[in-house]
Amino acid sequence: MARYTGAVCRLCRREGMKLYLKGDRCYTDKCAIARRSYAPGQHGQSRKKVSNYGSQLREKQKVKRIYGILEKQFRLYFEKAERMKGVTGENLLALLEKRLDNVVYRMGFGNSRAEARQLVRHGHFTVNGKKVNIPSYQIDINDLVAVKANSKNTEKFKELAEAAEAKTPPQWLSVNTEMMEARVISLPAREDIDMPIEEHLIVELYSK
Ligand code: SF4
Repeated sequence: MARYTGAVCRLCRREGMKLYLKGDRCYTDKCAIARRSYAPGQHGQSRKKVSNYGSQLREKQKVKRIYGILEKQFRLYFEKAERMKGVTGENLLALLEKRLDNVVYRMGFGNSRAEARQLVRHGHFTVNGKKVNIPSYQIDINDLVAVKANSKNTEKFKELAEAAEAKTPPQWLSVNTEMMEARVISLPAREDIDMPIEEHLIVELYSK
């Protein structure tokens, strides 16, 4: 599976905001945005004017980077969102939120979506009792996402569960950190997405 392997803090700097791609470090003064909040590169500090197209493009790049999705797959999500009933931009965000790696991150297991994705890929999670190691797997209402029985007793997962207790999950997930599982009690709604995203710009970009 293709993925971005470059320096992730550059991505935040390019978008001019924290995308929380590095877990704990993002909350410290080591965060690159706290130190240098301008775009990377020779002209990073001189880029000022952004065209309409530029802001649409940046919004798309930002969302791709938050969820760790590459262009081709992102485009497929958009096409699927377009075919669904309702508002395309909101459908797009809901599809991204319903990815299994995002659910694991939102239930507090994993300091970043990248870490949550790795945990899923390594087969540490089940959905409704069956092992699922596909990060893009779409969860549904009433699904039970859980840490696999063998993994529960490892030091790593004990630490993750402890860390998860201090985090606040979204309303659509009922998390039991002791059992290391979460039930999807409703589907993610627009107001459940806590990052500042203007999804209409992405719709405008792809509708040209
Ligand atoms: Fe982004 Fe986190 Fe790096 Fe800060 S530390 S620039 S929020 S990835």
